[in-house]
Amino acid sequence: MGGKRAFRVGLQTRRTEETSMSSYADFYRRSIDDRDAFWAEQARLIDWQTPPQTICDYSKPPFAKWFVGGTTNLCHNAVDRHLKDRAEQPALIFVSTETDQEKVYTFRELHAEVQRMAAVLKDLGVGKGDRVLIYMPMIAEAAFAMLACVRIGALHSVVFGGFASGSLATRIEDAEPKVIVSADAGSRGGKAVPYKPLLDEAIRLSKHKPGAVLLVDRGLVPMTLEAGRDRLWAAERDKHLNTQVPCEWVDATHPSYTLYTSGTTGKPKGVQRDTGGYAVALAASMKHIYDGRPGETYFSTSDIGWVVGHSYIIYGPLIGGMATIMYEGLPTRPDGGIWWQLVEKYKVTVMFSAPTAVRVLKKQDPALLSKYDLSSLRTLFLAGEPLDEPTAQWISGALNKPIIDNYWQTETGWPILTVCNGVEPTPTKFGSPGKAVYGYNVKLLDDQTGAELTGANQKGVVAIEGPLPPGCMQTVWRDDARFLNTYWSSVPNKLVYSTFDWGIRDEDGYYFILGRTDDVINVAGHRLGTREIEEAVASHPNIAEVAVVGVADQLKGQVAMAFAVLKDASILGDEAALLKLEGEVMKLVDGSLGAVARPARVRFVHTLPKTRSGKLLRRAVQAVCEGRDPGDLTTMEDPTALQQIKDMVGGKA
Ligand code: ATP
Ligand code: MG
Repeated sequence: MGGKRAFRVGLQTRRTEETSMSSYADFYRRSIDDRDAFWAEQARLIDWQTPPQTICDYSKPPFAKWFVGGTTNLCHNAVDRHLKDRAEQPALIFVSTETDQEKVYTFRELHAEVQRMAAVLKDLGVGKGDRVLIYMPMIAEAAFAMLACVRIGALHSVVFGGFASGSLATRIEDAEPKVIVSADAGSRGGKAVPYKPLLDEAIRLSKHKPGAVLLVDRGLVPMTLEAGRDRLWAAERDKHLNTQVPCEWVDATHPSYTLYTSGTTGKPKGVQRDTGGYAVALAASMKHIYDGRPGETYFSTSDIGWVVGHSYIIYGPLIGGMATIMYEGLPTRPDGGIWWQLVEKYKVTVMFSAPTAVRVLKKQDPALLSKYDLSSLRTLFLAGEPLDEPTAQWISGALNKPIIDNYWQTETGWPILTVCNGVEPTPTKFGSPGKAVYGYNVKLLDDQTGAELTGANQKGVVAIEGPLPPGCMQTVWRDDARFLNTYWSSVPNKLVYSTFDWGIRDEDGYYFILGRTDDVINVAGHRLGTREIEEAVASHPNIAEVAVVGVADQLKGQVAMAFAVLKDASILGDEAALLKLEGEVMKLVDGSLGAVARPARVRFVHTLPKTRSGKLLRRAVQAVCEGRDPGDLTTMEDPTALQQIKDMVGGKA
């Protein structure tokens, strides 16, 4: 099917002087064939207290140990080591359009704040190996807390602010934190969202009780403090204005944090990450993938509750000596130009966002994009979900900048597929995140037999042969068996890591992600990715967004059902207009993929059910269409979206 697509190829023009020595193909091959030498070289990008003795210990597959014998510290690499050359340079730029605050912390100031936080955590009994749960809005103190944890060898477990008590309670039980760091409230669209009552309730529900709760009082809503347990950050901080807390040198394999996946396909999984491998992977990615240089500014619009926030708001940019913007607020407030205003003001060179956020901007006045001086910006990276061609084309046209799609997972911590322009300028193809990233031995496998698919344009499961490269998950937190059973046991006859995504690779080595393996639709023996159908549907000029799911059908096995959000919603009540539109959309699908892929129905909804991280909850839509229980919905953003679909299909499609 790949041959049927016509992709536009855009060439990136920038080249980094020092890395022009090797072609990307050579670079990649070396990372696989000469793995240890390759990663030993990358390991020089960070500071070690003791250099590693063994680059990769893969004696107990699939458990990989990277940089064994080495000792280092993430906080040292993100903060302390920059004091020598760039102490007065901005490190953390906190911007809140919710509270109208803006504060720039230099590396020297960040170093001081992190030490104060580390001293307070130590006072509260936190030591090496202990867990600290961070349930915070996007404020600077959240960054201090993360960095303070890794500074003293404690593990952080950041839980997205705004998760309800139930989800929070499960995570408290799983992490068993000694201390929880939180705040009175977050804020969204100018309205305070109280956190403290949710946290109190979560602690009440949880079997595990933290020894202490450290609270940042932003003055947004009143808080009641529980005597003996709750402490205020401002007061505790005052006790440690000049306290120095040295970095705890930990083994490269010492866990740095745990973090949950988005819960798109089921119950979220607790990913455990190491220290040395992660630091090396991020340092290397800043150079080879993001091409960000020390002294520049990186702006990721994600949230610290997600993996993008961990890797590319906090650790990656700081390890790379860049300033990082931590933005609290909507992309549309005070108006849809706010991101670009920040790019201009802070001379952002590298930007990272998600297609879902770009689609929000697409509905805004396009003039807002040309209002600001964006000359500093080199590239916009997007990740998290399929980047559909209309969205990619719109944003690249509007910005006139290269757009690079990154494909990766919470589990991997950094990109699996993309183009590495820091190694060699590489053309991008719309619809494809790019090629296999160095270090990842990516394979396409037949999900029935496990056989490797080596030909062009064959559909298979995207899998990674072990060892996973540095930076990827070590295991599922406290559950090695789940790590093995979930990720390494799904392909028959092979110990291989499954991404649970479905893809093809073209003759040039570019991959195209077709959807989740769970989302493959089997219509009368034809296997179709939901993504392919969604793209065809979304090519209609009045479709803003669409979810396609396979629904059980007595005759055909399964049929596709589409739920779409309109750009012009004014026709929503007009049955005749909607019917006409449905016909047009079906015709489009027939034309691009053939009649087998044509959705049985195209229904129009106000909004689609998504996770808090902005991912389509197709499995919930599918369950509702088939009249089944939609399962774990704890990470769902807006329950009314699913309700609307439920009402529409009445339990059956
Ligand atoms: P869970 O694993 O709990 O079901 P999740 O898979 O959505 O949730 P994440 O780790 O946040 O959790 O998301 C990773 C997934 O997102 C990938 O496996 C893939 O399905 C999708 N994804 C990420 N980036 C891209 C991309 N650039 N193109 C297509 N799909 C992407
Ligand atoms: Mg996943």
